[in-house]
Amino acid sequence: MTTTEFKRPKLTLPDGASKLLLHTCCAPCSSEVIEALLASGIDFTIFFYNPNIHPQQEYLIRKEENKRFAEQHGVPFIDADYDVDNWFARVKGMEWEPERGARCTVCFDMRLERTALYAAGHGFGAICSSLGISRWKNFEQVCDCGQRAAARHPGMFYWTHNWRKQGGSARTVEICKREQFYQQEYCGCAYSLRDANAYRKSQGKALIKPGKFISVI
Ligand code: SF4
Repeated sequence: MTTTEFKRPKLTLPDGASKLLLHTCCAPCSSEVIEALLASGIDFTIFFYNPNIHPQQEYLIRKEENKRFAEQHGVPFIDADYDVDNWFARVKGMEWEPERGARCTVCFDMRLERTALYAAGHGFGAICSSLGISRWKNFEQVCDCGQRAAARHPGMFYWTHNWRKQGGSARTVEICKREQFYQQEYCGCAYSLRDANAYRKSQGKALIKPGKFISVI
């Protein structure tokens, strides 16, 4: 199946922007976003900056899956730092916050601030993120962080397009099946892994083993 086999709405970047810097978090979440942008002929580059992902083996798997998909579609892929120490420093004191809470706001802020900084230095007038497509995330929370990050740079905006709508969520499921992506089982940070495993333990389920994909190939 190719991008053209899905019926998608034609998208245009608002405010006359000509180039988009797309922050991506992983292949499953960004797959529909990437194909929808390509189907609409929008000029974009991927920016992978996710120092929240823990442990590093899991980070590398998610990054390589995302890169593989980008290469398959001929989309430029910027591989940014894994400055994990800075991430832990920024969320210090928020270790027990629930998902969608204050720690996640700081986590989104950090990732989108770096995206906006790169965009400002490389001629991108607009930024966006694949984070908002996941039903596990608070879409408004992601957009608020994106808009705050973009507002630091005069003339830049965060595109608040809701990728879940107009069939986006269903197409994401189809692409994930087609591509057989590595499916992560927790949001990404050490605390989300801890909490996901605590829940599994309480349900008598097997614990998540991050980075399992690499260990079997
Ligand atoms: S749960 Fe997810 S969004 Fe929240 S801090 Fe952890 S990695 Fe970031």
